[in-house]
Parts: sequence; C-alpha cells; structure tokens
Amino acid sequence: MAAQLETEQIDTIIRRVMNRLEEQQPALPRSYNYRGVFSDPDEALKAARLAQQCYARESMGRRKAFIKVIRETTINHAQQLSQLAVQETGMGRVADKVLKHLLVAEKTPGTEDLPAVAHLGDDGLTVEEVSPFGVILAITPTTNPTATIVNNAISMLAGGNTVFFAPHPRALQTSLTCIDLLNEAIENIGGPPNLLVALDSADLKTVDYLMKHPDIPLLCVTGGTAVVDVALRCGKRAIGAAAGNPPVLVDDTADPVKAANDIILGHSFDNNMPCTSEKEIVVTAGIADELLRAFRDNEKAVVLESRFLPELERVALNEKRTGPNPRMIGQNANKILGELGINVGDEVRAIIVEVERDHPFIRHELMMPVLGLTRAADFDEAVDIAVEAEQGLHHSAIIHSANVYHMSDFQRAIRTTVYVKNAPSYAALGYGGEGPTSFTIAGRTGEGMTSARTFVRRTRCALVGAFGTF
Ligand code: NAD
Repeated sequence: MAAQLETEQIDTIIRRVMNRLEEQQPALPRSYNYRGVFSDPDEALKAARLAQQCYARESMGRRKAFIKVIRETTINHAQQLSQLAVQETGMGRVADKVLKHLLVAEKTPGTEDLPAVAHLGDDGLTVEEVSPFGVILAITPTTNPTATIVNNAISMLAGGNTVFFAPHPRALQTSLTCIDLLNEAIENIGGPPNLLVALDSADLKTVDYLMKHPDIPLLCVTGGTAVVDVALRCGKRAIGAAAGNPPVLVDDTADPVKAANDIILGHSFDNNMPCTSEKEIVVTAGIADELLRAFRDNEKAVVLESRFLPELERVALNEKRTGPNPRMIGQNANKILGELGINVGDEVRAIIVEVERDHPFIRHELMMPVLGLTRAADFDEAVDIAVEAEQGLHHSAIIHSANVYHMSDFQRAIRTTVYVKNAPSYAALGYGGEGPTSFTIAGRTGEGMTSARTFVRRTRCALVGAFGTF
C-alpha cells in the first residue's frame, strides 16, 4: 500500500512538473524554412502575386475549405501561439491570448460575408459582385500578433486576395510560425503555396518600400497612429486601424457592483492589450464613491491611495509623461504594484487610481492594467470629459447606465466605431456579445470592424435583354 501510494505521488509530481514545463517552455519556432517566408521582398511579392493568380481561379468551395483549415489550425495551435507571443513580446497573458485565438478562429466571417446584390427587371439582370484586390500588404501589431494575422488571413483570403504580412519586429518569430502553420494547412489540402507571405526579417525601410510598391494595390494597417499616418501618405488606398483611448462612462443610474466587475474584466483582458479595452473611467459624482467601494470590494482590483500616485506615474509613464513607459506595457498588475513595493497575488488584474480629468492616465493610451478614474459633476460633464479623452479617434467607448437616453446621448456625442453598453468592452468583439469578430477596427478610415467585404472591389455586371421575365 505504502509502495503504491509512493508511485501515485511520484506520478502526480511528474505530471505537475511536466505541466509546468509545458506552460513555461512553448515549443520553439521551427528554424527550418517557414512556408511563405522569404528573405527578399521582391521574391516574396512575386510568389504572392503568382499565388493570387492561381487562387483567383479556385472555386468558392475551395476558398471555404482553406478558411476551414485556417480555423482548425488556429484552434489546435492556440496554446502554442499564445505562449510564443507572450514569450517573444514579453507582454500579455497566455490564457487571454488563447481566448483571442479561439475568438478569431470561430467568429471571423468567411466568404458568407461577401455581398452579392441582384437587380432584376424589364431591362434584364444586373448583378453587383465583388472581386479581389490582389496582394494586400497587412501590417500587424505586437499587441495581438497572431490573432490579427489569423483574422486578417481569413478576411482577405475570403475575398480572393493573397496577403503579404509585415509583422511587428518584436513579434516576428511568433508571426512567422503562425504564417507557416496556416500555409502548411492550406497546402495539405492541395491549396497553392504562398497564399500568405512574409519576410524573415522586419525593418521599417522594407515595409516602406512595400507600401509604395505598384504591385500592392491595398494596404491594411493595424497599429499605432504613426504607422497609419505613413500608410495614408502612400498615394494608394489604405485601411487604417489605428490607436484608441476608450473611455468608460459610469452614470448615477448604473449598477456599481456590476459596472466595476465588467470594467475590471474588459480593462484587464490580456493586460489591456486590446485597442478596444477600457483605458479610463469617467464617473458621475452621485455614484463615484459607490463605484470606488465596489472596486475595493472586488478581489481582482486594487484601488491605490493618492499618496502612491507620484510613484505610479514614475513607473507607468514615459519620462516626458506623454505616454506609457514601454517597459510596463502589457505587464501584470502585480508586477507594476511590485515596483511600488506593494506585494499582491496574480488574482489582482487591475490598478485603479483617482486623478484629475487632464491627467496622463486619462489622456493617454497606456496598454497596461493601470486605470485612471475621474469624477464629473453630472452626466453632461462626464460626456464632455470622455469625448475629450477619446480625442476624436473614433475608436471605442463604453457606458454603464440604466438610462437609455444617456446611452444614445453619449453615443451621439462620441461617435466611436465600437460602442458597448453595460458589458466589458470585449462584448463588441463578439466575446460575450453578439455578432462576428474583427481584430482590425478601422475607425480612422471609417471601414469599421473589417471583414471579407472590406477587402474586395465592387463590380457591376449588367446583362440586358435576358432574365427580365416577369
Ligand atoms: P506600432 O504602431 O508600434 O506597430 C504596428 C505595426 O506597424 C508594426 O508591424 C510595426 O512594425 C509597423 N510600423 C510602425 N512604425 C512604422 C513605420 N514608420 N513604417 C512602417 N511600419 C511601421 O503598434 P503596436 O505597438 O504594435 O500596437 C499597438 C497599437 O496599435 C496601439 O496604439 C493600439 O491601439 C493599436 N491597435 C489598433 C487596432 C485596431 O484595430 N484599431 C488593433 C490593435 C492595435
């Protein structure tokens, strides 16, 4: 009996150690030839163009099959890709990144998203169809590296395009691993090689060269304001999914406990990496104390006393106080608190601190679990503060309120691409909310939540003298 117990105990220990090793050491990216990955940009572009010509001749059924294997591959490798992303970028949370992969795999619309409109009458039949652009240059961020690649790949391939990915240098290996896996899955079911291509090194000069290349008709940029600015100056169509600074407004009619919990969940998801996540709170005076109490009572949050503010500013902001301290982007809340000498466990996911309305924690997108809260005298003032904080980026905003007029008043005032009522921000991404998902939200150029229909040309085919047989 004693011997049996010992064996069982040893088994348990081995299993625990193996699990921990698996958690800590994701399979390293393969060093051999990644499918679709080139050293020379012209060679890569040539391959993507050739692939597009083959792909354009494939049936819609085949496109669907390729998208199906992309979904399956993403689900099967969600854990590996998430671990790689956290390991390489040093940002975010593996478990949350796994959810992001499952979300894009399951809820990115495919070919069914492509519009087809028919006009039938005495003069015949006119069909409004779509056709591919060709090779799309997709610039992807470090914050959601592979979830964006999967999301873009599904949307762009659904439209009959091939994709030249320019991943963020800090997420290059993870991105190339993902591209390799997706190409492999497509080739395994007889699809053409190089539907997705990339370069084995990442430098901005080459991206600039590609942006201006005549054989790339469309740019899709998911990233900060600066890179979207560059793309929009290229003299060709560019879809700009740029930075946001989403305010969450809580008014006197909200349920403070639910609002606090929803805000923590949305704000802390993947350590505040999503561009849609709650970045600052504006609360009306009548409920501010109750909301703060609800945060204090929530084990996932720490409300910092004002005496810690200068030290938190030093840790969380850059030297000029014009944005985040890059070292702290995407870090766990307990790591940030540790820098202040406050030791808490990993269950703490958000740091809340009260500040003035023009504080950098209100004005700047921090992308870390530090959430400034500011008070407004009433609803109208709260709307003004929130609109000012959003800075006309037309990105995302959230409201917690039981007053439907407030919900629509705030929406009319802020006019963001994503607007969430009484839920964590990720509800608008289709996680715990209805509708499809997108990880490229083009608020800057107005396409909104991008999907297959964003990446196609509209064509019109008119047939006169037939079919109009009423
Ligand atoms: P980033 O702007 O640093 O990088 C984005 C991409 O652009 C990277 O691939 C980078 O290599 C490239 N890049 C940057 N400057 C360039 C230049 N001058 N020329 C050519 N390429 C250039 O952003 P990031 O840190 O990777 O991502 C975070 C930012 O992206 C945040 O501001 C976030 O809000 C935003 N974002 C927006 C969306 C959206 O859908 N709107 C989604 C995710 C992230």
